Amino acid sequence: MQITIEFTLATAAFFSFVVVLVYCLWLFYTKSNEDKSEPSAEHVHQCPYCLYIFVQYKSSPIWKCPRCNSLLEKGIDDET
Ligand SMILES: [Zn+2]
Repeated sequence: MQITIEFTLATAAFFSFVVVLVYCLWLFYTKSNEDKSEPSAEHVHQCPYCLYIFVQYKSSPIWKCPRCNSLLEKGIDDET
């Protein structure tokens, strides 16, 4: 009887540990994926003047179009 209880407790503790471990790994990989500097939708902008599409990683409110050097305010390309 005593052995059965300990076995059940050990099994429950083991599976709890596995669940926590998988959850921590999932959090870790999710966070590391967010930190990657690959172009995402929020980094790709289109110049409304020359329609040039470029990638801007900076979160600055004003960007400069690399083709026509126009100053672009944040959100100006979100209207279309
Ligand atoms: Zn431009």
